[in-house]
Amino acid sequence: MRRVSILGATGSVGQSTLDLIRRDRDAYRVVALTGGANVAQLASDARAFGAELAVTADAARLDDLRDALAGSGVEAAAGRAALNEAAARPADWVMSAIVGAAGLAPGLAALGTGATLALANKESLVTAGPLVMAAARASGARILPVDSEHSAIFQALAGEEMDAVTRVIITASGGAFRDWPLERLATATVAEASCHPNWDMGQRITIDSASMFNKALEMIEAREFFGLDPARIEVLIHPQSLVHALVGFSDGALMAHVGPPDMRHAIGYALNWPARRALPVAALDLAAEGVLEFRAPDEVRAPALRLARLVMEEGGLAGAIFNAAKERALDHFIAGRLGFMDMAPLVEAVLERMLAAPGGADGDDLTLDRVASADHLARNCADAVALDITRRG
Ligand code: NDP
Repeated sequence: MRRVSILGATGSVGQSTLDLIRRDRDAYRVVALTGGANVAQLASDARAFGAELAVTADAARLDDLRDALAGSGVEAAAGRAALNEAAARPADWVMSAIVGAAGLAPGLAALGTGATLALANKESLVTAGPLVMAAARASGARILPVDSEHSAIFQALAGEEMDAVTRVIITASGGAFRDWPLERLATATVAEASCHPNWDMGQRITIDSASMFNKALEMIEAREFFGLDPARIEVLIHPQSLVHALVGFSDGALMAHVGPPDMRHAIGYALNWPARRALPVAALDLAAEGVLEFRAPDEVRAPALRLARLVMEEGGLAGAIFNAAKERALDHFIAGRLGFMDMAPLVEAVLERMLAAPGGADGDDLTLDRVASADHLARNCADAVALDITRRG
């Protein structure tokens, strides 16, 4: 039996992972499940899957979790240290599906054990790619990408020489507002930004898709995961979300990965790797689809893509600063304090201020503490910039 743990089990990726495990229940032993505010879901899944341990990130919810697990034999714990301990419990395969920079430390803890890490938490690579890759090298752990685009690239690269790769094209649906006129974007509401045309995902990544910050994170993730020169990373708008990524080779061939927009494909691929097994994913009927469209992104509508290039050029702590500023901009948008089109200028202002400071994004001797400190400073800076923006009206 394979021992598996799921970090972020109560979220969209976590629930899809449990859905796959449920279908082949006898093949897995669930070690640890973690969640945040949704203690009822966490406890119910921990009971149903006979988990050894359930952890909520929110220390104030420990009593609720204990009550919900009473008599089940499942251990309950809470808080950041408990999350890291859950991630470090011996397991063969760990899903990293916490949202945001909070996923970094537990992911590193899992890598330290040598377990295979299925990585959905793109923020780990954006904030601390060199640290994450070094942790995997040190313990001999394997990282398998779960983001659909990166899983697609990984699959297209199987058996290929990296030297022969000339370009990687990440596709983007364009999100909720791809057909909106530019002038209407300033008035976009949280509810409007939270409806993805093709994918069913957590709220934060759905809004990041509408603003294209998700694609910006994915460009940086691709650079860190595959060690690509930033100039070789391209983005293409593809409204149907059927082609997830393409890899170009020196002989001119472009290998595309095509599949329905269902995260259970990429999750299942990482779960079954290196084998391919049947998955509960609909077969694609390309004749019924008829048309696959592609167009270049418009960086006036999506300044996040330009900022991603700046971050990749800068390297070091720039990713941690970018991600933290983006997370706070999103918090302010969701709370109604900022408009949709205020988010990118906020992130750009934080990057400008922090990169101009002595030491700026200097990434020498990158450590978790330095990443955490850059993250903290960037969040404070983002709050100050947000206040300026709201005062200006
Ligand atoms: P969700 O918001 O649906 O779920 C996030 C999970 O993280 C939940 O279990 C949540 O707990 C938990 N969580 C939230 N805050 C914290 C915290 N501070 N500390 C610890 N745990 C926390 O997110 P998604 O599943 O959509 O995304 C998860 C990750 O996967 C993200 O990095 C995203 O970018 C990436 N991803 C997601 C895809 C998707 O289809 N959804 C596709 C590709 C990548 P609770 O809900 O109990 O509060």
